[in-house]
Formats: sequence, structure tokens, C-alpha cells
Amino acid sequence: MTDADGITQPRPGEWDGTVLSAGHTADYKPFTFVDGEGVRCSLYVSGCPFACPGCYNRAAQSFKYGTRYTTELEERILNDLAQPYVAGLSLLGGEPMLATPVLLPLVRRVRSLFGQSKTIWTWSGYTYEQLRHETPDKRELLEHSDVLVDGPFIQRLYHHDLAFRGSSNQRIIDVPASRDAGQPVLWQSRRRDTEDSVPFLTPAAPRS
Ligand code: SF4
Repeated sequence: MTDADGITQPRPGEWDGTVLSAGHTADYKPFTFVDGEGVRCSLYVSGCPFACPGCYNRAAQSFKYGTRYTTELEERILNDLAQPYVAGLSLLGGEPMLATPVLLPLVRRVRSLFGQSKTIWTWSGYTYEQLRHETPDKRELLEHSDVLVDGPFIQRLYHHDLAFRGSSNQRIIDVPASRDAGQPVLWQSRRRDTEDSVPFLTPAAPRS
């Protein structure tokens, strides 16, 4: 089904990453500053059927885009995350919630090796509310995430000065706080130097 903004929307459970994912990733960028708070390692997965008009990376909508994820890349990511100045892992796409065959083993190892000392930020075209009623693999990836940047990219709501997101419908959600509250709670920076300023002043490319 396509909504009024031209975005393909699934019925609950209609898209299953365990079937759709080809295990491909579009890119990996260690030590970035733009995909969440602090120095981060960003993994971009391939495949996204939301097909938002204006998508910043249309090529990565294909599940076959990029290269196959390897154990060598996983070891590199874990080694990069071990650097003391790295705040955590960022998962972007494509659609991370449909790349769970790759991402769940990775985030389980991240939690096993680093506990909660490294944060996990996940970007998804699904909303938080949709994910709560989605397949078990998506809900597990949500549970491993500290922050969810949710919802599709809506071109008419694009603003160039939104940090970490491309359109104003997208929310930066504190996942553990939301779980405790039983409803979405917006994330707030815990860093004094970024409070109130950086989240709304840092330029960001459109993304989901
Ligand atoms: S903007 Fe994001 S959710 Fe939309 S098609 Fe592109 S990758 Fe998918």
C-alpha cells in the first residue's frame, strides 16, 4: 500500500527480513561524527522497500546493493568499537529492521563484549509504534537499541537543519525510557555541551 506521500507502507509483519535480506551491506564508516552522539562506527545495510520519494540513497533500496557482510567486517567493527573514544554503533540503511540476519548476531556480540558501555543507535522507516507490533526479530533489534530514529523520510517535511534525521516527522526516541513509560519518550542529550543546541543546529543529510 502506498500512502499519501508516495511511501510504501507494509501491513504488520508483511516484510520479513529473515526472508528478504540478502546479507548485503552498502557501506561501513568507522569513527564518524554525524550518525548520532559522539564518535561512532556506522554500518549501512542494503534493502528498503519503503521507497520514500526523495530517499537520500535510492541505490541502497535494493537488497542486492553493495557487498555481502563478512566475518572479517564484523571483527573490524568490534575492534573499532573497542577504541575508548568510540561512543557506539550506528545502524542505518537501507532498512536495518529488515537486515536482522546480519544485525542481530552483531548487536548480541556488541552487548556481550561491551555491555551498555557502547550505545546502539538504529534508524528505521518503521515507527516505534509499528515496531512494537512487528516480527520477533525486529522487536529484538529494537530492544538492543538505545536510540531509535523512527519513521520514513517525508519530502514535504524535509528541513536541512534537523540533526540525525531528514524530515520533521522522524523522532529521536529513547528506547529504554520508552519501554519503562509504555509510550515513546524523546531522547535528550546527556552531554552538557550539546544540550539544546547541537540536536537542532547540526546540518544533516536526509535520511531515515
Ligand atoms: S529514506 Fe530511508 S526509509 Fe525511506 S526508502 Fe530511503 S532508506 Fe528507506
